[in-house]
Amino acid sequence: MSDLAIAYNGLSLDRAGRHRGDPDWLAEVRERAGSTVLPLWRDRCLVRDGVPVALPAAVGHLGGAGRLGGAGQAGETGHLGRAGQPGEARQVGEAGLLGVVGGRVVGGDGGGHAGAAGNGAAHEGRGPDGVARNGGSGGREGRGDAESVGHSGRNGVEPLGGRELVFLALDGDCGRFAVDLSDVDEAEALRLSGAEAVVDVRALFPVLSASESALLAYAKGILHWHRTQRFCGACGHGTEVREGGHLRVCGSGGCGRLLFPRLEPAVIVLVTAPDAPRRCLLGRHRGAAEGAFSTLAGFVEIGESLEDAVRREVAEEAGVVVGPVRYLASQAWPFPAGLMVGFQATAVDEAILVDENELIEARWFSAAEIRARVAADPAAFRVDSIGHHLIADWLAAD
Ligand SMILES: [Zn+2]
Repeated sequence: MSDLAIAYNGLSLDRAGRHRGDPDWLAEVRERAGSTVLPLWRDRCLVRDGVPVALPAAVGHLGGAGRLGGAGQAGETGHLGRAGQPGEARQVGEAGLLGVVGGRVVGGDGGGHAGAAGNGAAHEGRGPDGVARNGGSGGREGRGDAESVGHSGRNGVEPLGGRELVFLALDGDCGRFAVDLSDVDEAEALRLSGAEAVVDVRALFPVLSASESALLAYAKGILHWHRTQRFCGACGHGTEVREGGHLRVCGSGGCGRLLFPRLEPAVIVLVTAPDAPRRCLLGRHRGAAEGAFSTLAGFVEIGESLEDAVRREVAEEAGVVVGPVRYLASQAWPFPAGLMVGFQATAVDEAILVDENELIEARWFSAAEIRARVAADPAAFRVDSIGHHLIADWLAAD
């Protein structure tokens, strides 16, 4: 399986990790002709003519709200602001649940619920925005050294009407930044950005190139992280942005905790039957439509390996004991902070006992049955989910 064929993977831009901690470098990149800012509003994308708006990044262009996204600007300058390129977009015809009507993107999950769809139950029960999981302990967080905390000057992230810009990547010589307009209402966000509508990021997948989809998802994930890390989880003091938006530091001199962007890994697995005929296990998750089956998935817990998580999830949800577990590929899944790790596993026996909590139904499918389901409904498996690829990979080996 090619990991680059999977949605939201393969950002072809340079994240410039060696440079983005330098405020002067960031300020200089921002001023370059062609550098742009991708605005998002409450995890959703601001679009015009059906594609994401991109604003000029240079400070002079952003000094006054009235000049933001002025007519004729947003669509001209941005990598993401140009007209869609259907020829480049992947799997447009398979999009199924999503579609483009009259040049406008329609459908999608609606705000804030992207995590619950597509990749199965991985995010079920956690709350769609994951705020509850973003506490202040564990992970890479720790006390910062006095020197790194002591710098309180410019951090290289300039305000956009008082807002911080987050550096995403270099596209050639041009910077790609993101800004969060979530502090204003929808109408004001549209006015500030010159956009016509807000749409779910995943709804734009069919009209964007692979790298554009990856950049947009990246922007959504990191802006969400900033919104939930404004205060230190250890002492409650406000945090400050560093490293172009890739680090926050507690502003309390006595604490100084460093907060790095955090991922929430989840496993997703295609389980195969131990004996002939060749079959795979799919489940119907609580809340899924009648007949809507997908691969099993779940979050990795503290103290587990990825393989441990596969075995536990399959046993918990479907009552199936699995033996060998084989890694296939992973997927960037910043909805809001996921990393989907895809596996194939072989069951020890075929007995199924669903938990009736996360899964309400599970059964073994032959390749012919799955092909028939896809033929009847091309949207049977969402094409922007790695689960789709796990199934396709298994079918291809038939
Ligand atoms: Zn603190």
